Amino acid sequence: MQRARLLIFNAALGPLDYRVPDGMEVQAGSVVVAPLGPRQIIGIVWDPERMPSETVPDAKLRPLIGLLPVPPLKPELMRLIEWTADYYCASMAAVARMVITSGGALKGPATMTEYRLTGGMPERMTPQRQAAMEALEGEQATIRELAGIAGVSEGVLRGLVNQGVLEPVEVDCDRPYPRARADFDEPRLSDDQREAADRFVAAVKAHDFAPFLLDGVTGSGKTETYFEAIAAAIEEDRQVLVLLPEIALTEAFLKRFEDRFGTAPVLWHSSLKSTERRRAWRAISSGEAQVVVGARSALFLPYANLGLIVVDEAHEVSFKQDDGVRYNARDVAVMRAHFERIPVILASATPALESLAMADQGIYEKLVLPSRFGGAQLPTIETVDLTKEKPPSQHWLAPPLVEALKDRLERGEQSLLFLNRRGYAPLTLCRHCGYRFKCPHCSAWLVEHRLSQRLACHHCGLETSPPDTCPECGESDCLVACGPGVERIADEVAEILPDARVAVVTSDTLNSPEKAAEFIAQAEGGAIDVIVGTQLVTKGFHFPELTLVGVVDADLGLEGGDLRAAERTYQQVAQVAGRAGRGSKPGEVLIQTRHPEAAVIAALAAGDRDAFYEAETEARRHAGAPPFGRWAAIIVSSEDDAEAREAANRIGATRPMLDDVQILGPAPAPMALLRGRYRYRLLINARRSANVQDVIRQWLGALNHPPGVRVGVDIDPYSF
Ligand code: ADP
Ligand code: ZN
Repeated sequence: MQRARLLIFNAALGPLDYRVPDGMEVQAGSVVVAPLGPRQIIGIVWDPERMPSETVPDAKLRPLIGLLPVPPLKPELMRLIEWTADYYCASMAAVARMVITSGGALKGPATMTEYRLTGGMPERMTPQRQAAMEALEGEQATIRELAGIAGVSEGVLRGLVNQGVLEPVEVDCDRPYPRARADFDEPRLSDDQREAADRFVAAVKAHDFAPFLLDGVTGSGKTETYFEAIAAAIEEDRQVLVLLPEIALTEAFLKRFEDRFGTAPVLWHSSLKSTERRRAWRAISSGEAQVVVGARSALFLPYANLGLIVVDEAHEVSFKQDDGVRYNARDVAVMRAHFERIPVILASATPALESLAMADQGIYEKLVLPSRFGGAQLPTIETVDLTKEKPPSQHWLAPPLVEALKDRLERGEQSLLFLNRRGYAPLTLCRHCGYRFKCPHCSAWLVEHRLSQRLACHHCGLETSPPDTCPECGESDCLVACGPGVERIADEVAEILPDARVAVVTSDTLNSPEKAAEFIAQAEGGAIDVIVGTQLVTKGFHFPELTLVGVVDADLGLEGGDLRAAERTYQQVAQVAGRAGRGSKPGEVLIQTRHPEAAVIAALAAGDRDAFYEAETEARRHAGAPPFGRWAAIIVSSEDDAEAREAANRIGATRPMLDDVQILGPAPAPMALLRGRYRYRLLINARRSANVQDVIRQWLGALNHPPGVRVGVDIDPYSF
């Protein structure tokens, strides 16, 4: 009798054993359907030796039900699942869920039904139907998705289908994608670019693991350089994965991709429709998808024939996933390349210190693009000392920045103001009683958004209308906005430069590919004089007429005592500065700060990257932080504060005593309340020699907690 051990997607149930019925052919990696009680579940057949479990006697085994019509997972991907679970102290089930993203959908046929408006009217119009019909104008999706968009039940929409107001459209999820061509429009590379590209191309053809750090200043043409590696992979008939940090930024990237390869790549991100998701997943697993551009989740897909991974803006914080499996896509990308035996390119103008250290040790091959493409100069950078150059009260732009803005407007050039704060004001309070608007579910203020007339929590998504009266003292007309967000800076610009055309660019305003495309067209076409934006505008954009960048508050990121704060500030300011002077006209950057003497700010102003990295290296060495030592965090949460605190204390009380591991806390986590859960944190600082994961597993494995308590592990956390 043949047995099969399954990895199933529920960690609490553990691996389960089944009997393989006669005539069914399974192997390690096969995706199968199995009975569990009265239900059917999906599982992945695993090598029993790699996933030990109690042996169930033959007689008790139930037979597998069937095999899903998808290729078995390759051993390379199975090793990646094992490694990710092991390294990040997560369950293999949780990692596997990221691979088989749409389990149920895979069982289905290759076609799916979507619905769209016919233009017809229902026999009886209700307010609900009216609202649904307005919301669904121009949409086509499954009933469930349409219900989500319209905010009505599926029943309401089924009614509209019966009335002929919505009509079905069959969508073929196996229809092929257009083929990309390696030689569609080949650029002429500079000598530096050519040198790097040749190394990449050779590595792609060598079919072996080769990690690269592509370290090039902003505007040096990193993209064109790694495009040559993509071209080589296309010629070899192998798949390519390009990870981008922010899917809102892909618009500009997609345009360049099409110019180079003649067609768009396959996209993968969390807001794909289910038909798009199913089509992409099938094409990726069959090998039909040539180049996949995606967010970090694209890393775990079952590529049939992967030949290259590129991580662009590899230093970006958004590659770190902060709930569920807490992984860093940059590091997992390198591991995937290792298992697949293929090259991986980490591209950045401001690499993470960890990546630079790997290059210094010779583990990554570093390729440098030291100057901007086409002879453009790097911008001049100066600081504006806010303790000396004071903006008027309730204003945030100091005189030198105001003068520079006026000057650009007169010359018909573009300016960019950077402030990493969405909305109008970060805090709203009552001038009578001092009441502050706070999120009931998070340790966070509600942020006023004037454009959408909302008070919003940026952590849980809660939104309310600003009240007319204070909820505490009942006074009316008493609410005051404290501090600036980008919307308020935009107002200030409008006041100073009434003729300027101002655009606010944040994830609120650029929330769809269409809006992103529209913004890029306007900015490139000279229809915008001043862009006011968050970190969304710091990377990826190339506007030749943009000659001034103003950093409204460089100190913002430095608050809070986080060890990575300096690096993050350096990266953000260097990136946004990199938007200035990319065309033929020189760029100027003004950094507003109250601490011009701080090491980060001084290094930025001096354009001395090495000085910054040296200071940062010393700080890290001193703190035993990566790359010199290791940090990890244990986060304990519950909806009940006392329950969370007690669980954290229990964990703290059983801490192991080891020479090379130091354990701090528990203490309230930086977000002590998040989405209705109270959070406590223990921090672990270990020498490089220590096996932190084993220590944590043994320690936490010995404890049990009430069902309402969640214990999460964060290896290499971003803030500590
Ligand atoms: P980075 O990603 O390093 O900031 P980009 O790849 O965006 O730089 O390149 C900066 C600009 O130079 C872009 O407009 C790009 O199209 C252009 N460019 C770079 N390399 C070439 C090349 N070999 N031929 C023509 N244009 C290039
Ligand atoms: Zn909240």
